[in-house]
Amino acid sequence: MQAPIDLDTQDIAQLACAYESRSPQEVLQWALERFGTRLALCTSFQVAGMVILDMAWRIDPTVRVFTIDTGRLPQETYELLDRVREQYHIEVEVYFPEAIQIESIVRQHGVNLFYQDIDLRMLCCHTRKVLPLRRVLEGLDAWVTGLRRDQTSTRAQTQKIEVDHEHSGLIKINPLANWTETQIWDYVRTYDVPTHPFYSQGYTSIGCAPCTRPTTDGEDSRAGRWWWENGAMKECGMHCSIESGNFEREYSASFNQNGEGI
Ligand code: SF4
Repeated sequence: MQAPIDLDTQDIAQLACAYESRSPQEVLQWALERFGTRLALCTSFQVAGMVILDMAWRIDPTVRVFTIDTGRLPQETYELLDRVREQYHIEVEVYFPEAIQIESIVRQHGVNLFYQDIDLRMLCCHTRKVLPLRRVLEGLDAWVTGLRRDQTSTRAQTQKIEVDHEHSGLIKINPLANWTETQIWDYVRTYDVPTHPFYSQGYTSIGCAPCTRPTTDGEDSRAGRWWWENGAMKECGMHCSIESGNFEREYSASFNQNGEGI
């Protein structure tokens, strides 16, 4: 992966300070002008991703948007994807996992391997999400996410502009880092942003169909993700690396050194 154009870690730290008190739209405006088509916005069609998409589209209707289709998404997510394409006239770039890798893990561990233990869940997330994401990012200098500091402790230090050390020093733009859930939904109402129908059914975070359930009052917003796990991070590895030792052994056992299924 190429290092981003003429910006070092110190430059990024200064930019993060300079833009900390600026609005999400100002952060996006800077990023879109700075990186052009070497920047793309990542969304899984959750509400923050939809807000970011709407904001970016109002600044530049040609903004690049991509999503990772894990192959296990709810039908309602695909319907929202189609609605976004129609409403915003955006050609959403959809990236898939490698079929040979999915075939390999399913052959060895079954289609619902994620319920068996945490390492197999991480293997599934790694194969269906993390590896396709790496493939997308190889062609970019910067990517935009809807990450917020108040979502989980693992996201509490998120900067609006930061170096993505998980992805070879790419620039990661998180314009909503200091926004609250109330601000997100206020924006949705103000601009009539389309949202996933699951929110009205009690979901507060939405991912793959077999790994997401609604939450109840008082639960953490990501409690419905991988709800059967005790003590594991509520992360899939796209935004922070997950290293357990056991998971890495599962990965090695499933793929050869070229990442191809065994
Ligand atoms: Fe697999 Fe579940 Fe992760 Fe989706 S969320 S990639 S189905 S483990």
